[in-house]
Amino acid sequence: MARLVMKFGGTSVADIERIRNVARHVKREVDAGHEVAVVVSAMAGATDRLVSWCREAAALHDAREYDAVVSSGEQVTAGLLAIVLEGMGVNARSWQGWQLPILTSNAHAAARVLDVNGAELVKRFKERHEVAVLAGFQGMHKETGRITTLGRGGSDTSAVAIAAAIAAERCDIYTDVEGVYTSDPRVVPRAQRLERVAYEEMLELASLGAKVLQVRSVELGMVHNVRIFVRSSFEKPEDIDPHGTPPGTLICGEEEIVEQQVVTGIAFSKDEAQISIRRVQDKPGVAAAIFGPLAEANINVDMIVQNVSGDGATTDVTFTVPASDYERATEALIKTKGQVGYERIDGANDVAKVSVIGIGMRSHAGVAAKAFRALAEKGINIRAITTSEIKFSLLIDANYTELAVRTLHSLYELDK
Ligand code: ADP
Ligand code: ASP
Ligand code: MG
Repeated sequence: MARLVMKFGGTSVADIERIRNVARHVKREVDAGHEVAVVVSAMAGATDRLVSWCREAAALHDAREYDAVVSSGEQVTAGLLAIVLEGMGVNARSWQGWQLPILTSNAHAAARVLDVNGAELVKRFKERHEVAVLAGFQGMHKETGRITTLGRGGSDTSAVAIAAAIAAERCDIYTDVEGVYTSDPRVVPRAQRLERVAYEEMLELASLGAKVLQVRSVELGMVHNVRIFVRSSFEKPEDIDPHGTPPGTLICGEEEIVEQQVVTGIAFSKDEAQISIRRVQDKPGVAAAIFGPLAEANINVDMIVQNVSGDGATTDVTFTVPASDYERATEALIKTKGQVGYERIDGANDVAKVSVIGIGMRSHAGVAAKAFRALAEKGINIRAITTSEIKFSLLIDANYTELAVRTLHSLYELDK
């Protein structure tokens, strides 16, 4: 007997028929004698609709009320799944984030999980053999008692946080693909499923655009040592061998990975914007004057490139910000003009960041150089580059994203 968390994303609970399929997966684990906590997302499209209603109601709205609205999608699915499970003769009860509670920071719309109380769930596993059906994505701010949400894709984080709180043996993330692939299988048809991915690599993949897991879920998994297993919800529950190993990807410690490739995967993101500040005075304190106000405005600056000044007096500074922060960033920079003394600001929204990730890069030189050559041969211009120990990222024109990703995927022999 084991204790399991099973998380099902939006497409897996898109309608009542799929919720029935989810219930059969849950029953399969219950029948095998396991204690089960299920975490569900809102039905596919539901959260997008709620978000758009908030925007329609008022372009600038209070984040506390946004959370009151968008958290409701998960409430519906949790109740529906509990009803279907009861109908199948499985003892089940639904739980909202505030009922457990899942305590969070007060960063509404992107709250951090601080503490999860799983005591009542464990008591009910023991006393009533009851399945807990939890609404993902939701939390409650510790001091005000108000509902919070964990950011888009946050049900993954709910699941891992609950797995840690109840000391689950495994956290199964059921989704609409069979695991974590070498790249997004919807863009790279030749992408291969990975058997195992180290937490650190998964953190990079997720934060650089592979939305199969929310970044914070991987962080939590790494800190609390939760074994995260990504697998498909579309497999028929009846076809799964209870004693076999289903296809999927285990996110685990680096030491558990036997055969380490140099490159593990390729991620991309089109949610980037490039800002270039032209003819900035080349003197001490200028970088602080540019990036200080952006940090104060809570804008994440990513790639930074500063050209060597040609005339010894001025230089160009280029960097990227999330596309959604582009306007705010430009406004903040205009206010610094007096202090920074630049000529003009150029911006571009039609850019994409393509990233190559692999722990093996730590011990291999020249991995990135190969990419520059391959992209040049395809006529793809690189606007900016950043590197770290286990990844490098390239900023390119968004039109070339698919071509670049597929080219790099073949280059690093991930097509197989
Ligand atoms: P869910 O609704 O189950 O949370 P998501 O849509 O959030 O599912 O995440 C699954 C999707 O992530 C897949 O359909 C796939 O298109 C995308 N994806 C992006 N990169 C990868 C990758 N490297 N491996 C697997 N899926 C990926
Ligand atoms: N329903 C939320 C979203 O669409 C949370 C999730 O699905 O993980 O972002
Ligand atoms: Mg998701």
